[in-house]
Amino acid sequence: MVNLKINGISVSVPEGSTILQAAKIANVRIPTLCYLKDVQCVGSCRMCLVEATGARGLVTACTYPVSEGMEVRTNTPKVRKSRKTTIELILSTHKKKCLSCVRSMNCELQKLALEYNAEEDRFGTDHDLKPIDDFSASVVRDNSKCVMCTRCVAACAQQTIGAIGPKNRGYAKVIGSPYDVSLAFTPCVNCGQCIVACPVGALYEKSAVADVWGAIVDPDKQVVFYTAPSVRATLGEAFGLPVGTNVEGKMVSAIKQLGDVKCFNMDVTADLTIMEEANELLSRLENGGKLPMFTSCCPGWIKFAEHYEPELLPNLSTCKSPQEMFSAVLKTYYCEKNGINPKNLYVVSVIPCTAKKYEVTREELGKYTDAALTTRELAKMFKEAGIDFVNLAESEYDMPFGEASGAGAIFGATGGVMEAALRTAAYKLGGSGAPLEFKEVRGTEGVKEAEYSLGGKTVKVAVASGLGSARNVIQAIKSGEKDYTFVEIMACPGGCINGGGQPYVHDEVRNNIDLKAVRAQALYDYDKDSRLRASHDNPAVEILYKEYFGSPNSHKAHELLHTSYGKREKY
Ligand code: SF4
Ligand code: SF4
Ligand code: SF4
Repeated sequence: MVNLKINGISVSVPEGSTILQAAKIANVRIPTLCYLKDVQCVGSCRMCLVEATGARGLVTACTYPVSEGMEVRTNTPKVRKSRKTTIELILSTHKKKCLSCVRSMNCELQKLALEYNAEEDRFGTDHDLKPIDDFSASVVRDNSKCVMCTRCVAACAQQTIGAIGPKNRGYAKVIGSPYDVSLAFTPCVNCGQCIVACPVGALYEKSAVADVWGAIVDPDKQVVFYTAPSVRATLGEAFGLPVGTNVEGKMVSAIKQLGDVKCFNMDVTADLTIMEEANELLSRLENGGKLPMFTSCCPGWIKFAEHYEPELLPNLSTCKSPQEMFSAVLKTYYCEKNGINPKNLYVVSVIPCTAKKYEVTREELGKYTDAALTTRELAKMFKEAGIDFVNLAESEYDMPFGEASGAGAIFGATGGVMEAALRTAAYKLGGSGAPLEFKEVRGTEGVKEAEYSLGGKTVKVAVASGLGSARNVIQAIKSGEKDYTFVEIMACPGGCINGGGQPYVHDEVRNNIDLKAVRAQALYDYDKDSRLRASHDNPAVEILYKEYFGSPNSHKAHELLHTSYGKREKY
């Protein structure tokens, strides 16, 4: 251990710790901008400069190691002046449009500028307005608001994609894609990890809010919303509620206050996915099908596989994602049953994910979804509608797609799809009394492995979240080092609870809690309290098979609930 003092407070930290890590233990706040735990530590923004004995000049707290007897000062006049000047220099090349900016009131630069009394125009404003890149179906880039922190670049590199990076030198430096093409024409997988890493309004999702408002007031349209499993565990953050608060009831109430709309629960088609996927797995096991089978509910992972791992495409489950299953069910079964012309049913999915915005544009999936709203966009609609979210009474989802199983809810966390599938596979192979919890596949590590004996069959499973982890698992399979039966992959580290459409969380919160674990816990608690725990117990799914699909993997199910994949030459 190393002993030091920060602003006079004595603290002992393990050798090799940085000043920033020591400050956290001493409960001293040091501002950061480019530093993001688990993503990037480069010391380039100069916001965390401090004075430290033994150092020459100011040093970056995020990279500078502590030493025995060191005395650190984090708020001297010299330090404060340096930070203020840094912010003012950033503002000199910044498109200052706070009143209309997507990040206003939630912007890390705006917050720092206020805290350090930065003058907007101390160095004048000298920037060319750079073009906004909005060709992508999911991500919009506005370089005029970029503060060059490179958090997005690090997030994309961590995903092993590298669709964006710094270009040019010095004053001409910008973040962009190779050959100056739009993000839409790169192998970007639309995961949105760059968006949730960005501290300012330089990256945001392609908004569907105006279209949804248009449909709500259109007298010819019947509007139905459905909400993805993880949204209940994160939406509250956009209204100041603690991370990990389950706001399902308030969310449903608020959606119903947007207009004459219905609100369904996407966990129902998570359950339907499991019925199809577990049957597909058992059929591959029994009939010598392609193994390991990979999950297919994450559109970021699907696009990644199509670009980078085309030889694995036959291993992917043919199941559509729960989003695409739900929209297909609504535009067919639900419309037929209720005498609605599918053209007049406007289907809105609420999702934690920017890749699902891309997914709804894919022709081969039938284009049944009219609009995909991220958690952030839903919060924006509630704010536009003047809804007092925090004080709302709770409501329940509409039937017949209201109640689902806890297995459907845990889809939102890494390992959740696997655990849900194992619950149903164990039941099918072992009958009632089969286990309900498979805790080995829980947790936010990038890769998890487990081996189970289900009804006498050995099933080896792996779970990967984050595309860097996915590449490691795939490499181990290809080299013959690992021999799995079933593999779950989610593109975002931690799964959908950390998706690119989730509420912005400032670095000072992200750097100090395990955001993914706290959000995931809300889903596991929800599952534990659910009346139904396994997908095969969901009565809505049972009715769907009885009245429409016949049985899992039936001809009709294949027509509407399954798809196929192809090597992606173009973007
Ligand atoms: S990025 Fe932040 S500082 Fe810049 S205009 Fe938007 S809110 Fe204002
Ligand atoms: S959406 Fe994902 S893949 Fe695309 S640029 Fe952002 S981080 Fe990279
Ligand atoms: S786009 Fe955002 S995250 Fe990327 S460098 Fe610019 S400010 Fe940083």
